[in-house]
Amino acid sequence: MADDCLFCTLVRDGDHVRAADGFVAIKDIAPQADTHLLVLPERHVPSFREVGEFPPDEAQRMLEFVADTAREAGLEDYRVVVNVGEGAGQTVFHLHWHVLGGVAA
Ligand code: 5GP
Ligand code: ZN
Repeated sequence: MADDCLFCTLVRDGDHVRAADGFVAIKDIAPQADTHLLVLPERHVPSFREVGEFPPDEAQRMLEFVADTAREAGLEDYRVVVNVGEGAGQTVFHLHWHVLGGVAA
């Protein structure tokens, strides 16, 4: 856990749509689609580049958590987006997965 990390704080104290097994889902504060959720792992890594720091079983559970979050939100068709690096639009440096469903804003 990183002391000054917004998403570490939200993993601990945020308003979770769902939580299980080292992962949480929250609503994006500035939704870009009808449904815009963020999946945050409890484990702090700065970006997707460091995804190799996850033990293999945890990485698999993270992907399943993303899929389960979309399903439980009632989404059949949706997009999963990970921005990697400032040049790609990443603004919070704690790995997270955008789950976007419905009409884009
Ligand atoms: P990124 O741009 O790093 O891929 O995604 C960061 C996302 O976090 C953005 O979509 C932004 O709207 C969202 N965000 C930033 N601050 C907060 C916050 O305090 N609460 C929530 N729920 N979302 C946030
Ligand atoms: Zn963090």
